[in-house]
Amino acid sequence: MSKVILITGASSGIGEATARLLAAEGHRIVLCARRTERLVAIVAEIRAAGGKAECCVVDVTRLDSVTEAVAFAEEVFGPLDVIVNNAGVMPLSKLDALMVDEWNQMIDVNIRGVLHGIAAVLPGMQARGSGQVINISSIGGHAVSPTAAVYCATKFAVGAISEGLRQEVGAAIRVTVISPGVTTSDLAESISDPVAREAMRGFRKDAIPAAAIARAISFAVAQPADVDVSEIIVRPTASPY
Ligand code: NDP
Repeated sequence: MSKVILITGASSGIGEATARLLAAEGHRIVLCARRTERLVAIVAEIRAAGGKAECCVVDVTRLDSVTEAVAFAEEVFGPLDVIVNNAGVMPLSKLDALMVDEWNQMIDVNIRGVLHGIAAVLPGMQARGSGQVINISSIGGHAVSPTAAVYCATKFAVGAISEGLRQEVGAAIRVTVISPGVTTSDLAESISDPVAREAMRGFRKDAIPAAAIARAISFAVAQPADVDVSEIIVRPTASPY
């Protein structure tokens, strides 16, 4: 069945790979992010391959921006079946570097962004009695390491919010957490701290392709309405973490 699926952070990495895969599977995709040129180019490629896709410029730190994107998706494709709250940033640094603005950016995008996605879809999904919220956490949502205290805190929060949502909404809405391990994407580009940036270089050498995470998301979407895939961790075989 073709579903209407909105993906945040779809201009690169995991979001882009997920948009391409789900569109190839016949779903109608609305790709959201801030980098318009990239979104437009990806949508053109999806359409050239026979898929159905639209894009919408969204800043997930603003609720009105996410709400407008959901309204746009429903106008062009009909009621939203799935939201993938994927947008995220990871400017790692040790706490004593006091990069407070970057801490706040992670809180705004990784936590508030997910909450805004939930707020934008929940009334409609509850009224229809169906829907799926897929939140992208991380292995950093399961364990903490130096330079990643705030990033991990945001991903632990994604886990807590998702579990609370799952318990509250009951059978009508499926809630899924996908926790990637190290995956090829632009994510490490957001690290400005030189120490954390260097450490991340070695850590990322075993990265798996973003398509591996897209396949896990596709699996969760494809399950029947009475099956909730609550959480999947997908990590490189070579990674000890
Ligand atoms: P990318 O940097 O490639 O993608 C991040 C996406 O988030 C981009 O499309 C970016 O688009 C978007 N984004 C950032 N800020 C905002 C904002 N304020 N509003 C809207 N969109 C925004 O990295 P990944 O694909 O790796 O990241 C996707 C998710 O996967 C993140 O939540 C990340 O934490 C998680 N993850 C990634 C792992 C990895 O190793 N790659 C491991 C574990 C989790 P734009 O700049 O155009 O707005």
